Order: sequence, then C-alpha cells, then structure tokens
Amino acid sequence: MLSKKILSFDNLIAEVVDQNLCNRCEGCVSFCSANGISALKIGKDGYPEYLDKDKCMEGGICYLICPKTIELEEEISEKYNWKYPLGQWQDIFSARSTDSVIREAATDGGIVTSLLLYMLENNVIDGAIVSRRTENCGRIPMIAKNRAELLEATGSFWSEATHLDELGNVYSSCFPVIKVIKESAEKDMKRLALVGTPCQIKAIRKMQAMNIVPSHLIVFTIGLFCMQCFTLDDLVKQEFAKKHNLKIEDVGKVNIKDKLILHMKSGLKIHIPLEEVEQIAHDACLACSDFANDYADISAGGLGSEDGYTSIIVRNSIGKQIYSEALYKGYVENSGVSIITKKDRDYKLIDIIRDFAIKKRIRYEQHQHIVTDK
Ligand SMILES: Cc1cc2nc3c(=O)[nH]c(=O)nc-3n(C[C@H](O)[C@H](O)[C@H](O)COP(=O)(O)OP(=O)(O)OC[C@H]3O[C@@H](n4cnc5c(N)ncnc54)[C@H](O)[C@@H]3O)c2cc1C
Repeated sequence: MLSKKILSFDNLIAEVVDQNLCNRCEGCVSFCSANGISALKIGKDGYPEYLDKDKCMEGGICYLICPKTIELEEEISEKYNWKYPLGQWQDIFSARSTDSVIREAATDGGIVTSLLLYMLENNVIDGAIVSRRTENCGRIPMIAKNRAELLEATGSFWSEATHLDELGNVYSSCFPVIKVIKESAEKDMKRLALVGTPCQIKAIRKMQAMNIVPSHLIVFTIGLFCMQCFTLDDLVKQEFAKKHNLKIEDVGKVNIKDKLILHMKSGLKIHIPLEEVEQIAHDACLACSDFANDYADISAGGLGSEDGYTSIIVRNSIGKQIYSEALYKGYVENSGVSIITKKDRDYKLIDIIRDFAIKKRIRYEQHQHIVTDK
C-alpha cells in the first residue's frame, strides 16, 4: 500500500542504504536520470547518492520502486496473485536445452538461454537483457539480439553487487538493468525479456505497477532462484577454504543447488554447505525473503534437478505459453523426472523448492529481529 506521507531519497538513504540493505540495482538513480531530473548519481562504491540535492523534486518515486521498501508490496502481491510460500505457479519441470553448445556453456540445463533464444528467433521479443561475463570475473548488462550474444551471457556467477567501474576481482549480480532498458528504448527495441535475481525482478515489477517508463518495454521476465549473492573472493577467505587451500583461479565452474558446488579445473568437485556461504552473504540478501523469484513469469534454478538440468516454475499464462511453444518447437526438453530420490527417500520437485522458499523466509524473519533488536 502507498503511504500517505511522501517519502524522499533522504528516507531511502536512512532506511535502506544506511541500514546496509541496498542491493545496488540502481533503480532509483536510473529512474531519476531517465526522467531528466538528475538529482541522484551512483557513488564510487555502487551506492546511490545525491548528485545535486537542489534538483530533487521529492516526489518519492525512487523510494517507492526500491525492492527493499514495503511500498507497493500489496499491489504487486495482488497483481501477481502471490501465495505463501513461493508465489503463484502452474507447472514445475526439470528440463534442459536441446542445444548441446548451450548446455555446455550453461550453469545448469541452459533453459534460460534456450527460452530467450526461442523468443528471439520467433519474433516474440526484440532483445533479451542478460549479463555478459567480463575478463575480471565481473558481469555487465547487455541486450542480446541473437544466439551468439546470448551465449556470451550463458552461465552464472554468485556475487554481491558492485558498481561496474569498481568490479575488481568480484562478481556482480545486481547490475543496473534499468539503464540498459532505457538504451534499448532509444534503439527502438520495443519488446524485451529480462533475466534477473529476485531483487531485480521486483524493482521492475514495482516500476510496472506505477507505469514508470521504460519498464513497459519488459514483456517477459525469467527470474533466477537466489538464496544469496556472494563473491568467490570472500569465499576463499573462509576458514574451510583456507584449510583446503582453495584458490579462485582453480575454480572452473560454480553451481548452486542444496549446496554450493565448485567444479575445480582439476576435475575435483567440492560441495560446500550453504550455511558456510551465508556467513559471507551481504545484509541486503539476508533482508530478502524471496528465494524462487515469485514475481517472474518463469523462475529457474538448479535446486531439485539432477546435474545438467534446470528446475523451472511456470507461474502464469504468458509463462505457460512461452514454455509450451519452446517445448513444441524443440528448443527445450523435459526430463520427465518430478520425483528425486535422496538418501532412500522420495522428494517431489515442488516440495524441495518450497522447503527452500520457507527457509529463506524464516532467515528473513530472523534477520528482521536482529535488526530491530540492535
Ligand atoms: C546470484 C545468483 C544466485 C543464485 N542462487 C541460486 C540458488 O540459491 N539456488 C538455485 O537453485 N539456483 C540459484 N541460481 C540460479 C542458477 O544458478 C542458474 O542460473 C539457473 O539454474 C539457470 O540455469 P540455466 O543453465 O538454465 O541458465 P543459463 O542458460 O546458464 O543462463 C543463465 C542466465 O542468467 C544470467 N545471469 C548470470 N549471472 C547473473 C547474475 N549474477 N545476475 C543476474 N543474471 C545473471 C545470464 O545472463 C544468463 O542469461 C542463482 C543464480 C544467480 C545469478
């Protein structure tokens, strides 16, 4: 619900940035500059700050669209028919791409890349907002218009957000997608798909709820499951990593399921409990309750699927239409497995995902108490 009081960027600083809750999605700054107000800028460390306070119109939109404020929660929850604990859903599959090159490059089954490819090749979208890997292990947002460009972005990194100029040896997860949407509007691209973590998708949904330009260009969203972001840099500083002499340069690929799995270049696979990773998660992630990307059209993650497959939650009718067409046209294939046997017990895919969604909600509640008790 919208509060009666107008909340300005000062409130955003006090309630989000100063509380260490900012995901650095840059939504507030992008909105401000996209609309020619130019009161805000991204500071050196990736957090928003005033560029020129006198230009601030104190309209409060930057506050409303922040994924960390409770404003507009009720509106989007109603619009997307949210239900505890993982939002609305119609179907759940374990699936993979039929394209072996995509599968080879992908994090899990390459479903995200293949769905985007289907949409591009069949004129459903003009471009897909994805994140391209950079040499220094960072990621920058880009608009992919064909298979080759999609392949530059295939695969995942787990990290805390940082400003692009400051990437250094850390990975970025919450890169400034809104800036890219604006660029695509200028290039006359009218229909875009967006891949993002829950905070990124939520910022877009809030903008769409307020009809804020240019969020109307996003016609399809693929949301990645996300327990937390972290940097490999921080991971290798952990006690267990030091004990095993874990070095970033030896890591070939990273997966995340019910554990973090490091595929070492030597061929060794290291399974790390997520509790270890939690210790290096940013406060902003601990203050997020959304694991399964509840407001996306389709959500995707590794959890619950066997190696080489992606778990897919089809949430609404547009998600169903896109997924069925991609399946029909042979871009993706279902594994047919909906029951996973582990330690002699059978688990349904939906139950595994639901358990994690609940876990993240409980962690969020506990974190709220810690913050309030401080
Ligand atoms: C920060 C983060 C945390 C995650 N946490 C979990 C988890 O806890 N449990 C779980 O089951 N799955 C998690 N995932 C999702 C999982 O790792 C895979 O991305 C998902 O299974 C899709 O695999 P795929 O092979 O179908 O995707 P691919 O075909 O490999 O495509 C991946 C897509 O994700 C985009 N992408 C990659 N990195 C980022 C990023 N940092 N931010 C935004 N977009 C990105 C790429 O541009 C690409 O379009 C996480 C992903 C990220 C990025």
